[in-house]
Amino acid sequence: MGYVLEGKSGNWEVVCGLEIHAQVISESKLFSGARAAYGGAPNSQVSFVDAGFPGMLPVINRECVAQAVRTGLGLAAQINLFSRFDRKNYFYADLPNGYQISQFAHPIVGTGTVEIELQDGTLKNIGITRLHLEQDAGKSMHEQHPGKSVIDLNRAGVALMEIVSEPDIRSPEEAGAYLRKIRQILRYLGTCDGNMEEGSMRADVNVSVRKPGEDFRTRCEIKNVNSVRFVMHAVEAEALRQIALWEAGEEVRQETRLYDQARGETRSMRSKEDAHDYRYFPDPDLLPLVLAEDDIAQWKSKLPELPDAKRRRFCAEYGISFYDAGVLTAEQAMADFYETVARGRDARLAASWVTGDFFAAMNRSGATLENPPVSAAHLGGLLDLISDATINGRIAKDVFEEMLESGKAADAIVATKGLRQVTDTSAIDAAVASVLALNADKVTEYKSGKDKLFGFFVGQVMKALAGKGNPALVNEAVKRLLG
Ligand code: ADP
Ligand code: MG
Repeated sequence: MGYVLEGKSGNWEVVCGLEIHAQVISESKLFSGARAAYGGAPNSQVSFVDAGFPGMLPVINRECVAQAVRTGLGLAAQINLFSRFDRKNYFYADLPNGYQISQFAHPIVGTGTVEIELQDGTLKNIGITRLHLEQDAGKSMHEQHPGKSVIDLNRAGVALMEIVSEPDIRSPEEAGAYLRKIRQILRYLGTCDGNMEEGSMRADVNVSVRKPGEDFRTRCEIKNVNSVRFVMHAVEAEALRQIALWEAGEEVRQETRLYDQARGETRSMRSKEDAHDYRYFPDPDLLPLVLAEDDIAQWKSKLPELPDAKRRRFCAEYGISFYDAGVLTAEQAMADFYETVARGRDARLAASWVTGDFFAAMNRSGATLENPPVSAAHLGGLLDLISDATINGRIAKDVFEEMLESGKAADAIVATKGLRQVTDTSAIDAAVASVLALNADKVTEYKSGKDKLFGFFVGQVMKALAGKGNPALVNEAVKRLLG
């Protein structure tokens, strides 16, 4: 049995589908030449088209189309050779035209699928219903002036992809995993930066509840949720609210709601509009968008390796666990870093160093992979010294700390500090002999059956060798000289 919520009347199942708005990475806007970058001075990136001046004509930006197709391919989705732009009419202060150009009946991308992974390792497919292109709106600001609202149109006309999922999601955890997976794929593709704090990705969360085995019941849509954590909270809070309603003998009304993050609850915003409220019709200023098979093949041939494929390749090529491969492919930059370290080396040792000491150092210093605390080349150099037995694993930890502090390469540190491993068996034998002589009482105890003392002798010998003894040789010598 999957995730259920317990009510007075028994168990309830959660049903959820997400509509994700993802801002397209492009130089200019969907239908104008104005810059699309985030963060410019208010109204510094606005063309006459974006401002809705009479007589201005939209011209489709080919790069935005390519980005939508790349994204569709990354979601294993059907690419529609024919799609069309429609006007979605509504009145709002930040929408100068009085309509948003969107795609309604004929989206550029059709059905696809995304694989998510749950905490317990279960994999599940979530269906994609469609992906369409549309314009973003401007931004109303209410805090600049005591008596007026002001409008910034920099965002007006920037290309958005709306990615709609099937109602396949069954728990807050699945909703979170799905959103994270979409964000990861878009980042790999370079089609959206996935930055939810800056609003370049946001989700409308549709939630209903039902008794297991029933048909779907009425849903509510929670608008513009802007973090993975809030999406997960919103699903649960909304499901609990609906269960309480049903169990009180009331109806859930289809409506648009807001998630109040301070209170951890959803509240009503407006009753849900239907498609006909928007009076959709084909935009007469734009021809249908017709793609050639060749263009799609071109874009497809240049797609990067995507997270699922990379993860499976890492397992096969480097012999690391599925879990570790997941951690190491979380971000493209992470995967590149690991591969630089692992290539031509002991790849499992590389995985354990990258996910262990290296991650710990990153977290401690708050560094990013663009500016890592130790470069991939330097970390690789350290692994080489372990693999060719120049240093042992114990000393390697110290060398690593020293690398973090000094920025020097491992071999330089080992040379100046004289940290080479002791492999000279006569030196090791001498150290063992003196340890045994100093601890004659313990030797007697050992011989009368106290096996645990073996580790003590090894430890003492290592100490005598300043930590630099070759562990295998030290073990062997202690065993030989004791017996
Ligand atoms: P609309 O166009 O009115 O927003 P859609 O049919 O396109 O409606 O669905 C929007 C989203 O709602 C989709 O992500 C879909 O998966 C989800 N959804 C549809 N029915 C339900 C339901 N009964 N419970 C939860 N989510 C649903
Ligand atoms: Mg919708």
